[in-house]
Amino acid sequence: MLRQKITPQETATIKKIFHECKNVVIVCHTSPDGDAIGSSLGLYEYLIRKGKNVHVIVPNYFPDFLHWMKDADKIILFERHKSLSYNLINMADLICCLDFNDIKRIDELGTPIGRARCKKLLIDHHLNPDKSKFDLCISYPELSSTSELVFRIIDAIGAKDSITFAAAEDLYAGMATDTGFFSFNSNNPDIFVIISELLRKGIDKDLINRRIQNNYSADRLKLIGYVLYEKLQVFPDIHASLFAIRKEELTQFHYLKGDMEGIVNMPLQIRGHKLSICLREDTEKPLVRVSTRSVDDFPCNELCAQFFNGGGHKNAAGGTLECTMDEAIDIVMKALETWTPILQKEESNS
Ligand code: 5GP
Ligand code: MN
Repeated sequence: MLRQKITPQETATIKKIFHECKNVVIVCHTSPDGDAIGSSLGLYEYLIRKGKNVHVIVPNYFPDFLHWMKDADKIILFERHKSLSYNLINMADLICCLDFNDIKRIDELGTPIGRARCKKLLIDHHLNPDKSKFDLCISYPELSSTSELVFRIIDAIGAKDSITFAAAEDLYAGMATDTGFFSFNSNNPDIFVIISELLRKGIDKDLINRRIQNNYSADRLKLIGYVLYEKLQVFPDIHASLFAIRKEELTQFHYLKGDMEGIVNMPLQIRGHKLSICLREDTEKPLVRVSTRSVDDFPCNELCAQFFNGGGHKNAAGGTLECTMDEAIDIVMKALETWTPILQKEESNS
């Protein structure tokens, strides 16, 4: 049995909101990942089946390995279709914000969303949501993913039977990607109760795993080889590592957005490793993107808030630096020095 998380009051309010709405816009964070797209399309499918007029608008491009999801081709990219997005947002009587905790996480799409006068609902699992911007915040940071939360909401309002095969695929994909295919942040037994419910809808999880994991170009594999062989700097005393990749290097491997996805996790395969940091020069703007991953208690979100203008989860966080790569590397060195007392303690992740 799944233990209920959503409170009776939240359940009653959300039931009423889903009953009354007619024109719904669903949005998720910039550079959407599996959970952002999976939770958005899962909720989309549910609301469409209820006869609502629903559109999913995402700030920008999302990776190819998510395009197999049903109706992924109907997702509107704000950066390419601004006037259509503005019109849909103006017409909406409900905006559902999924998988982010702050309007800043949707960049320029935040302007029309912030201005909209309709009901706004946040469904998210990041820490410290900005509650002032929403009529209702369903925020459970202890959950694996927003997709898990969407499942729980649909279950709480008594509509589990109406979860379709496609919605089950979407929600599974979101839960799987946000937990590294159940290798972190996934010890809550409820997760597997939900997965078994999704399997009962007929999904083939092995196939979904393959669609997501085995969907890269040869260039991406060569890029991984290059990063690990040429670029990775390991600091064994503090169980940490850094790799910094410049625009020209990305171009050499015919970089497509998404090609760097997940590479930052790889140094955590080193025995006893606690923290991996990736710096990547943006190919369009003069920015350095920071990605961090950790194991156990090392708080990447605190590190990113303190040094990289960012935040995120304890074991996966990111940020942005508006400076050159050399300056960014200096900032990382300072950050590592600051956190050395915590990092150098001997603990093994194996
Ligand atoms: P990634 O390293 O995959 O880009 O991001 C990992 C996680 O860190 C994301 O799921 C998101 O929660 C968080 N994150 C990434 N960039 C930022 C940022 O600039 N600000 C905040 N607050 N969180 C971020
Ligand atoms: Mn998520």
